[in-house]
Amino acid sequence: MIADVIVVGAGPTGLMLANELALAGVSTVVLDRLPERTGQSKALNLQPRSAQILDLRGMLNPLLEQAVDTIPAGHFAGIPLDYTPWNERQIGIPQARIENYLEDRLTERGVPVLRGHEVTDVEQDEQGVTLKAGQTFHGRYLVACDGGRSTIRKLLEVPFPGRDGRMSALVADVTLTQERSSEWRLPSFDRPGGGGMVDVLPLQNGVYRALIAGPEQQTIDRDAPITLDEVRHAVPDVREIRWASRFTDASRQVERYRYGRVLFAGDAAHIHTPTGGQGLNLGLQDAFNLGWKLAAALHGNTTVLDTYHDERHPAGAAVLANTRAQGVLLIPDDDIAALRDILSDLLRIPEANRHLAGLISGLDIHYDLPGEHPLVGHRMPHLDSSVLHSGRPVVLELGDVPRHGGVQHPRGDIDVDTLLVRPDGYVGWVDDGFETLDTALTRWGAPQGKARGSGAGR
Ligand SMILES: Cc1cc2nc3c(=O)[nH]c(=O)nc-3n(C[C@H](O)[C@H](O)[C@H](O)COP(=O)(O)OP(=O)(O)OC[C@H]3O[C@@H](n4cnc5c(N)ncnc54)[C@H](O)[C@@H]3O)c2cc1C
Repeated sequence: MIADVIVVGAGPTGLMLANELALAGVSTVVLDRLPERTGQSKALNLQPRSAQILDLRGMLNPLLEQAVDTIPAGHFAGIPLDYTPWNERQIGIPQARIENYLEDRLTERGVPVLRGHEVTDVEQDEQGVTLKAGQTFHGRYLVACDGGRSTIRKLLEVPFPGRDGRMSALVADVTLTQERSSEWRLPSFDRPGGGGMVDVLPLQNGVYRALIAGPEQQTIDRDAPITLDEVRHAVPDVREIRWASRFTDASRQVERYRYGRVLFAGDAAHIHTPTGGQGLNLGLQDAFNLGWKLAAALHGNTTVLDTYHDERHPAGAAVLANTRAQGVLLIPDDDIAALRDILSDLLRIPEANRHLAGLISGLDIHYDLPGEHPLVGHRMPHLDSSVLHSGRPVVLELGDVPRHGGVQHPRGDIDVDTLLVRPDGYVGWVDDGFETLDTALTRWGAPQGKARGSGAGR
């Protein structure tokens, strides 16, 4: 089978990427080794930056309809963070619902998601990639979205530097002998004591998520089955386990997100402890950064693809750093408890809250792009999301006299007359004399001389 792009892995990262590629008209096939979806959800949330990018493609509202709740808050190792300074909310929604939605959209677009196709071999040359997954597949590019234990990474012997886990924990979706409050909330481990941390969060329909990192989890083999006794030891009123999984705070990241015609995204590129609720979000954002660039590369842009590594590797490294710091704050130790108390006090200072909330929510992510104006590399503020539904860059005209044939946009407090907004909502150019619009259009994927309204694109 032949496709422009072969996406390996139908988790949230692979499905998001395939949606972006389909929008750009790139022939794509998604392969997954599982014969069917498990219906299980590791992640339970969309951070505000993920919500913003989904909105840019008209995908947010359908997902909000399936949300458990939304709250203007996040947490750092269980210490509450306030998102109200941004006027943004975190969305409580199980991972399985996000995956179902993204896969349904692919089905509507006629993109094949081939299940029961485990990749066992991969080769690449200057023209493309060939891989074996039951049958042989040829593509011009391959994107490894095959999770933390990525087969593609191993087959290509791509280094995955970092460290192994130092602590072990488990999550178990359980029913209880007695119902508890059903109000959706974030994990809170106010003061991990000598017994380790335990929290029970309501999901829906009488199911709760138990998060357990006690002393006994530290000595049990990572692959050992999770028993009712082990869970009841921490949460005595558990009636039944519906699903359970162990995890560690292992922290690793590939050195390059691109190896020739193979790119890495999501957990295949980075792993870290789930604390703070960022992993799925990071993967969605990798995919959103990569999709339009791959499309542009397939249309002949020879430089844009390397900006994927340049922009997303630092974003991943920042999450690895903050999750490592969170891991320390969860160590059951009196000295660390004192540190948590001090940090909790500091986070009452608005600027301190803003800084950490910006990290965890993804709202402070910006890229180091060519240009001197402070907006370049930052998300375009107050953007009418519909102008990017097509997935193409757009030129916005803020002045009274349109000068570049773009889309009229309210000025707000912006001090330039024209901006180029990339398909991912980031400002790629402003008319401050640093360089010409044509240079920027060429860099971000659009051939010169095309129409510059919504869809100034490929
Ligand atoms: C306990 C736990 C709780 C978490 N909670 C949160 C949270 O609250 N918020 C958050 O943002 N993140 C959370 N995460 C992280 C989040 O679940 C992951 O970051 C996310 O699933 C990564 O998505 P992905 O698509 O990159 O990889 P995956 O979801 O791992 O998907 C990879 C896919 O690749 C397929 N695959 C693997 N190997 C092959 C092969 N050889 N051939 C073909 N297919 C293959 C797999 O079957 C799978 O479908 C949590 C993680 C854990 C472990």
